[in-house]
Amino acid sequence: MSKKIAFIGLGAMGGPMASNIIKKGIKLSVYDIDKIRMNEVVKVGGESNQNINECIKNAEIVITMLPATEQVKEVLIGKNGVIENLNPGSIIMDMSTIAPVGTDLIADKCKKNKLDFIDAPVGRLVSHAVSGDSLFMVGCNNEMAFKQVEPLLNCMGTSIIRCGKIGTGIRAKIVNNFQILSIAQITAEALTLAKKLDLNLEVFKEVNAGTTANNGQFHVNFMSKVLKNDTEPGFTIDLAHKDMGLAIEAGNNFRVGLPVGASVHAVYSQARSSDYSKKDFSALLDYSCQLAGVKPPRL
Ligand code: NAD
Repeated sequence: MSKKIAFIGLGAMGGPMASNIIKKGIKLSVYDIDKIRMNEVVKVGGESNQNINECIKNAEIVITMLPATEQVKEVLIGKNGVIENLNPGSIIMDMSTIAPVGTDLIADKCKKNKLDFIDAPVGRLVSHAVSGDSLFMVGCNNEMAFKQVEPLLNCMGTSIIRCGKIGTGIRAKIVNNFQILSIAQITAEALTLAKKLDLNLEVFKEVNAGTTANNGQFHVNFMSKVLKNDTEPGFTIDLAHKDMGLAIEAGNNFRVGLPVGASVHAVYSQARSSDYSKKDFSALLDYSCQLAGVKPPRL
């Protein structure tokens, strides 16, 4: 690609995603406020920058993978933000998980500045981002703009799902995460109960897999993280709490009751007030076991 492409936010997800683009031979101008995170991507060939304005100078495509609405708004539409400094016709693709109202606001400002905006939040786990097997939920109004980012998405993942117009990608992401995060908590509670009842984990796993209780949180996420005694993020309980909050907010805005979601949100809220805030969300299992006074199960 001859275009200049900038990538901002090189954390647990953005780091491997940017690295996968670079490894496919595409030049990338990169930035993260955390120099350690930035240097990891610079080591694989990313062009380092002192600040965001240097990173996006003359860029035609800017990708953001930041923690939450606040940071995305600050970087894109804040004072002297990215939007003010791009040439008309450039594309901004936000891949972070943020409030849909934030996405709508940013898209509107892009339109006023004659920029294309695409929301392309990311599904699956950090391990998928590392192996280049992520899934993307894309909201986009302009086919020409999509064609320009498609090769980049193909470097980072294996599934591109076109959700519809701008804003549909982020909405699909929030609804889907509501389900994932609820299933994670149900799995934590089930495995705590199984442990208390002295069930053999391997045997219970087999029972679960053979029934409709089978789920990816138990068999993919918990199996590769907490049950292997790895609670490093991954996806932090802090970020999971943020995403559950986005679902609750959407439910409130549109008068859709989410009673189970509200209880699950309360659990994440409680867990993040302790040491668990920066742990992987599969560590909900350890939190649940701690409350029940049981030794957490391990493989
Ligand atoms: P992270 O906290 O590991 O990474 C975010 C990065 O953004 C950090 O390196 C941070 O230093 C950087 N940053 C923050 N403010 C910045 C600023 N103003 N300018 C430049 N850099 C800044 O988070 P993550 O796990 O990589 O998640 C990123 C987004 O992707 C979140 O919205 C999250 O909800 C979503 N997501 C995460 C996962 C996951 O499994 N971790 C999966 C899918 C989606």
